[in-house]
Amino acid sequence: MADTPSNGAPRINGDAYPFVDHQYDVVVVGAGGAGLRATFGMAEKGLKTACISKVYPTRSHTVAAQGGISASLGNMGPDDWRWHMYDTIKGSDWLGDQDAIEYMVREAVPAIIELEHYGVPFSRTEAGKIYQRPFGGMTTEFGKGIAHRTCAAADRTGHAILHTLYQQALRHHAEFFVEYFAIDLIMDESGACVGVVAWNLDDGTIHRFHAKLVVLATGGYGRVYFSCTSAHTCTGDGNAMALRAGLPLQDMEFIQFHPTGIYGAGCLITEGVRGEGGYLTNSEGERFMERYAPSAKDLASRDVVSRSMTMEIREGRGVGEGKDHIHLHIEHLDPKVIHERLPGIAETARIFAGVDVTREPIPVLPTCHYNMGGVPTNYRGEVVTKNGDDANAVVPGLMAIGEAACVSVHGANRLGSNSLLDLVVFGRAAAIRAAEILSQNEPHRPMPKDGGQYALHRLDKLRNAKGDMPTAKLRLEMQKTMQNDCAVFRTGESLGVGVKKMREIFGMKDRVKVEDRSLIWNSDLMETLELDNLMVQAVVSIESAANREESRGAHAREDFPDRNDQTWMKHTVTWMDGEGKTRIDYRPVHLQPLTNDVQSFPPKARVY
Ligand code: FAD
Repeated sequence: MADTPSNGAPRINGDAYPFVDHQYDVVVVGAGGAGLRATFGMAEKGLKTACISKVYPTRSHTVAAQGGISASLGNMGPDDWRWHMYDTIKGSDWLGDQDAIEYMVREAVPAIIELEHYGVPFSRTEAGKIYQRPFGGMTTEFGKGIAHRTCAAADRTGHAILHTLYQQALRHHAEFFVEYFAIDLIMDESGACVGVVAWNLDDGTIHRFHAKLVVLATGGYGRVYFSCTSAHTCTGDGNAMALRAGLPLQDMEFIQFHPTGIYGAGCLITEGVRGEGGYLTNSEGERFMERYAPSAKDLASRDVVSRSMTMEIREGRGVGEGKDHIHLHIEHLDPKVIHERLPGIAETARIFAGVDVTREPIPVLPTCHYNMGGVPTNYRGEVVTKNGDDANAVVPGLMAIGEAACVSVHGANRLGSNSLLDLVVFGRAAAIRAAEILSQNEPHRPMPKDGGQYALHRLDKLRNAKGDMPTAKLRLEMQKTMQNDCAVFRTGESLGVGVKKMREIFGMKDRVKVEDRSLIWNSDLMETLELDNLMVQAVVSIESAANREESRGAHAREDFPDRNDQTWMKHTVTWMDGEGKTRIDYRPVHLQPLTNDVQSFPPKARVY
């Protein structure tokens, strides 16, 4: 039980947890592309802004993004934001909200020019313009041609953008709390968010941030799978915080598998490789994508390529001893192109697959890559929740952006290079909206009397976990279950088995063992907090998947192979209570664009 001793330090089971208190207008949790864009945007608008990150900002996962960022600049051929809008809606398999998509693709052009002015070192054409490469699903004239739309800084675009955004944040005097682990949101009785509690990993102090606005920019939860391309830090902490705060997550069944993770290691080989002319073959040396996607071939959208590869493997045409992967070729490309445009890829393939890409193919396999689902928001970044009949009610004091959010611009399947775009466009949109909301100079909502206690109890419970199972073992059980039963192909039967297993694994949470009670650089405790976060997302994802009886985008059911717009053109919203019990509901897809400049794109068959 908690009590508050005379020195003001909350005490739980005999341990004191004195809060170090802070007050800001805005606290951004996360310093990836989305968090940094929002942070400096807020600071630029004169808001007192703090940014909390569990890793050094430029080590955030965004640094790993390779291929590029989309915008219809038209530097290397004709382009139009309407074509980009159509491609994104088609890529989303008509689950994306068309108002948010219109906003994103129109804002893309000024957003890229802005990045250029901030100092992002984009690759250049002969004429000195920003270089743009083709990417899967990006077309001209509503599907007729291949668009050169993806702006690239060689194959290190995320690195270039992240470093530039961090410099801008420093320039605008945002305050950073680096290597602070956010534990939980502080909500008041009315359901508004008033702050967040974080643990300083370096000295063990506990910090309570009181804010008018908290922005979740905590990234995706790829680590729920055994094989994934994202960093070990991608544990979806913000999503789990939202669930624990009584808020739902949206479209969590839609998880993108990238066609080309290096076999065995998971590291990504960017789609930019196929954009530069790379192609896939099976054990018969056949360029099989010509059969599955006759026009886009190797540049069809990711879910289509991943499924095609999986079909080849399942039908016995995989390569290697176990016939369990596929070959990606770039040995026919001019070494100059590889050296100039794909230098990181050559290095990654050498280190992680032992392959010289100028002589031999790279062994690849579809690997978990991106989470389309997350905290539901509107296109301004405000968190929305289905509150009674009002599917668009805003949660006061809370925003979400980047991969943590579900705006939803990616719907059932994200197009490559649309995520970096999502980060900068909606990071900026959140700053614009924050300035509007907070312009009246209203005081902070009062901190509830016991504000932050919930976070302390959770920390204390895990810190004292004395079960018989190491965190890593439980994590592996969860990851294997998700990999086997909730990956590229799904059936009612496999999902049913997976739901049952995940429930059992969830039930084992209390058996976890944390060896070290220290609050200073205790990686065991941090990984246990992360596992606790991953676990709720695994349950929500697999149960949402079991519930959706159709195939759409990344959610491919063998027992329901067709998309069913009549019944299923709706977003899944899932809540979870403290015992791990889920409640699933649905909200409508926004089919109306934001303005009258473009008409709604009605659903049609998705062929490439
Ligand atoms: P992240 O960059 O993951 O940042 C999350 C931040 O939250 C970090 O700063 C972290 O420290 C912080 N955080 C998390 N939890 C906590 C906590 N509890 N307390 C405090 N801080 C916390 N997309 C494209 O558009 N183009 C590409 O070319 C591309 N390439 C990719 C390559 C790879 C290998 C992968 C895996 C993805 C790629 N993507 C690409 C997708 C894209 O990189 C990601 O979707 C995007 O970077 C996510 O950015 P973010 O800002 O939302 O989160």
